[in-house]
Amino acid sequence: MAILLGSIADDYTGASDLANTLTKNGLRTVQTVGIPDPSLALPDVDAVVVSLKIRSVPASDAVTAATSAQRWLRQRGASHVLYKICSTFDSTDAGNIGPVTKALSDAAGGGIVLVTPAFPETGRTVYLGHLFVGGQPLNESPLKDHPLNPMHDANLVRVLTRQSHGAVGLIDLTAIAAGPGVVKARLEALSAAGVTAAVADAIFERDLETLGEIALETAVSTGASGLGLGLARALVRSGRISSGGAAPTDAIRPVGGLSAIVAGSCSKATLRQLEVAERSMPVLRLDPERLLAGPDEIAAAISWAGDRIAAGPVVIAASAAPETVTRLQSLYGREASGQAIETAISIITAELVARGVRRLVVAGGETSGAAVDRLAIPAFLIGPEIAAGVPVLRTVGNAQGDMLLALKSGNFGGEDFFAAALAMMH
Ligand code: ADP
Repeated sequence: MAILLGSIADDYTGASDLANTLTKNGLRTVQTVGIPDPSLALPDVDAVVVSLKIRSVPASDAVTAATSAQRWLRQRGASHVLYKICSTFDSTDAGNIGPVTKALSDAAGGGIVLVTPAFPETGRTVYLGHLFVGGQPLNESPLKDHPLNPMHDANLVRVLTRQSHGAVGLIDLTAIAAGPGVVKARLEALSAAGVTAAVADAIFERDLETLGEIALETAVSTGASGLGLGLARALVRSGRISSGGAAPTDAIRPVGGLSAIVAGSCSKATLRQLEVAERSMPVLRLDPERLLAGPDEIAAAISWAGDRIAAGPVVIAASAAPETVTRLQSLYGREASGQAIETAISIITAELVARGVRRLVVAGGETSGAAVDRLAIPAFLIGPEIAAGVPVLRTVGNAQGDMLLALKSGNFGGEDFFAAALAMMH
């Protein structure tokens, strides 16, 4: 199996988001969790997204992990590799977008890299190199207060220059509106002038289609799901997709088994989804302080689920309203309490799977990462979309047998998301 499009995602839920976009735009796609073991047999797919956790680690670690992932993808035929970053360009002056982009390009033989985080579907647009989040410039959006990567500058040419050794240029909307030929000429001119990365404007999907077509002719590009959309549509237009853009229905072949929902997200949407679920399913609200105190709360949760799960899906949630979360964080520290709860939920999840759960919904980005790592799931085939940005996932090469999952980050999904997700999993 030769991969037509390779991607390296800097976090897990971003990887699912991209894999979902590629699938919706006609590519059969697998998302791997890290670089797969050589023994993993991947299904016949057009695109592979390798999920890493390198957004906020030291730049040298990110470079090492990303270049290893690229080697793996190239060995499997990927002629183009997209480095998938956040559509809000989450990074600092130390990296990691600049260093990883340069390292991937160098390892692939050099050449200029197109860079754009634009994703119009979610309100991320780039004009004259400036990133807008909805109606606001990046530096006036909530991203200015991000705990790990506060974004104080909307000018991505400047942002990327500060974290790069090479020169950074701009391909503006006028060039993009003039079509692929002009973009290609502009890219070549920048490259001849010694520029190693070019930030590209994009406001509409058609801009990303133009960029995707030109990026495909290069070795590496850097962008969010929007650029993935452009690359996928360009590949489909080129006639190189053997599956003919087949619907990913085989990903949702029934797996049987029991079903459960676990939640560690404290977002407004998740809290509302839990309230709605309470009307139709048994919901256990974990006591976070008891979770932090020792293993008793975990054991009690598993026993509670054991008494009910044969009769239908159960929900186990640590999620709490902001005041409760703030109080816990002030007592135990933000990171320590978050991680301890993620670990507790991942242990509960693994116990549920050991007791026969094969259909699983996880609410929370970090929570999902912890659960997937604990279950040691090597890869997912991407199925149909449940809600914007959240597809059904089918495990590939899973030691516990085939499972269907939905990993929902933060504010995603309507208020009946949990029931809607389970209705698509049999
Ligand atoms: P989201 O996608 O909504 O951001 P995450 O899972 O990424 O959700 O993050 C939620 C964080 O909140 C996790 O670290 C989780 O362990 C933590 N958490 C969950 N419940 C509580 C709680 N009751 N008090 C404090 N932190 C919590």
